[in-house]
Amino acid sequence: MKRLQGHTDSYYAASANVAPSFPQLTGAVSVDICVVGAGYTGLSTALHLAERGYKVAVVEAQQVGWGASGRNGGHVGVGQRRSQADLEKMLGKAMANTLWQFSVEAVQLVEHLIKKHSIRCDLKRGIMHLAAKPSHDNHLRSDVDLLQERYGYTRIRYANAQEVRALIGSKRYLGGQLDCGSLHLHPLNYALGLARACAANGVDLYEHSRVLRYRGGSPCEVETVNGRVRARNIVLACNGYLGKLEPRLAGRIMPINNFILATEPLPVSLGKALITNDYAVQDTLFVINYWKLSGDNRLIFGGGENYTTQFPKDISGFVRKYMLRVYPQLANIRIDYAWGGTLAITLNRLPNLGRLAPNVFYSQGYSGHGVPTATFAGKLLADVIAGTEEHFDILASLPAHSFPGGTLLRWPCLVLGMLYHSLLDRFGR
Ligand SMILES: Cc1cc2nc3c(=O)[nH]c(=O)nc-3n(C[C@H](O)[C@H](O)[C@H](O)COP(=O)(O)OP(=O)(O)OC[C@H]3O[C@@H](n4cnc5c(N)ncnc54)[C@H](O)[C@@H]3O)c2cc1C
Repeated sequence: MKRLQGHTDSYYAASANVAPSFPQLTGAVSVDICVVGAGYTGLSTALHLAERGYKVAVVEAQQVGWGASGRNGGHVGVGQRRSQADLEKMLGKAMANTLWQFSVEAVQLVEHLIKKHSIRCDLKRGIMHLAAKPSHDNHLRSDVDLLQERYGYTRIRYANAQEVRALIGSKRYLGGQLDCGSLHLHPLNYALGLARACAANGVDLYEHSRVLRYRGGSPCEVETVNGRVRARNIVLACNGYLGKLEPRLAGRIMPINNFILATEPLPVSLGKALITNDYAVQDTLFVINYWKLSGDNRLIFGGGENYTTQFPKDISGFVRKYMLRVYPQLANIRIDYAWGGTLAITLNRLPNLGRLAPNVFYSQGYSGHGVPTATFAGKLLADVIAGTEEHFDILASLPAHSFPGGTLLRWPCLVLGMLYHSLLDRFGR
C-alpha cells in the first residue's frame, strides 16, 4: 500500500484513497467566510456554506484530515458522550431529548454526506457497548430501557453475557448493548471525501498554512506564514490542536492523547471469531477500549491515553497490552501500525460551540464523540452564519466551564482526576 505522505504513520494513511492536495496560501485573498482547520468541523462547515452559495476558504496548518479526524476509531455513535440519564439529571428532560434528537440527526447526516458525495470509507452498521463491571452492566441494561421507552429508540437492545461472549470471542464482558442505528467507518477517507466535496463545490482549501493570528472586526482577517485572508466571518475549528491561537477557547478544553494499533490482516475465520457481526465495539471503562475490523480484516484496536505533550515511544507495545487483556489469543499476531492522536475534552463532556464576537464562531470539545458531532456542528455553524440560528443557539447555550487551575495548573488537576478514574477502572466494581 502507498502511504499518504505528510500524515501520521497510521493504517488509515496507508489505506487512504487517492487524495487531492491543496496549495499553500500565499498573498491576500478575500472570501465570505474563512474556516481555520480542515477536520470534520471545518470541512463540514465549509461544505454546508458552499452549498448555500457562500465563497469559503479553509486554511489548514498541516493537511486535510491530519488531526483527530484522520486518526480516530471511526465509531459514529448515536447519543452524546454522557448517557441520556445523566443528561436528564444535568439539563432536564426537555434538553436531554433535544440532544438525543440532534445525535440521531448527526449520525444520519454522516450517512447522508457519504452517500451524496459517493465517499468510499468502509461504512458499516452497528456498535456494541460492553460492560466491564457488574455496575456497568446494570447501567447498560437500564439505559436500553430508557432509550426504548422514553426516546422511542428501538434500534438498540440488551444482550446478556453469554450472547456477548459468542459475539466477540472474549470472556471479559458481562453484558452489553447492540445498537444497529450507529455506524462505523474509515475516518481519514471520510475526511478526504468531505474535502473533495468541498473542492467540487468551489471551496478554496489551503494546506501547510498555519494561522498565526487572527483579528475580529469588519472585515476580519486571518494571517498565515505567507498569506492573509479577509472575510466577513471566521470559524475556528482547531479542536485538540488549537494550541495558543485563542486562549479564551483553550481554557475550556483539555487536549488528551489516545492511541490505536492495527494488526496484520487476519484470516477471515479469526476476524469472524473476534467480532461475529462486524459491528464496532467499545467497552464501558473510563479509559475506554474500542475496536473493529478494517476493510481488509485487520483488528483496529484503541486503548490507553496520556495527558502530556509527548506520545509514548513504543505506541504499539503501549496499546497491545490493552488488546491482549480483551483478546489474549492474539499474542502471536503481528502489529503493523500504531499511532496516536489528540482530541479535546470538556469538563462536562458536552460539546462547546458558540460566538467569540458577532462574526467569529467556534466549535470544539466533542470529548471522543466527534465523528458525528463535529460533522453536525459544521452544519449548524453554516446555518447560523446563513441566519437560521435556532439549533446552533440551543447547543451554544449548553453550560461550558473552564478547567480549574487556569492555564498553569489545569494539567496537574486533569492528570490527578484522570488517574483517579483509571484506578476505578482497575479496582472499582
Ligand atoms: C485516537 C482517537 C480516537 C477517536 N475515536 C473516535 C471515535 O471512534 N468516534 C468519535 O466520534 N470520535 C473519536 N475521536 C474524536 C474525533 O476524532 C474528534 O472529535 C474529531 O475528529 C474532531 O474534529 P475537528 O475537525 O474538530 O478536529 P481535528 O480533526 O483535530 O482538526 C483540527 C484541525 O485544525 C488544524 N489547526 C489547528 N491549529 C491551526 C492553526 N493555527 N491554523 C490552521 N489550522 C490549524 C489542525 O492541523 C487540524 O487538522 C477520536 C479521537 C482520537 C484522537
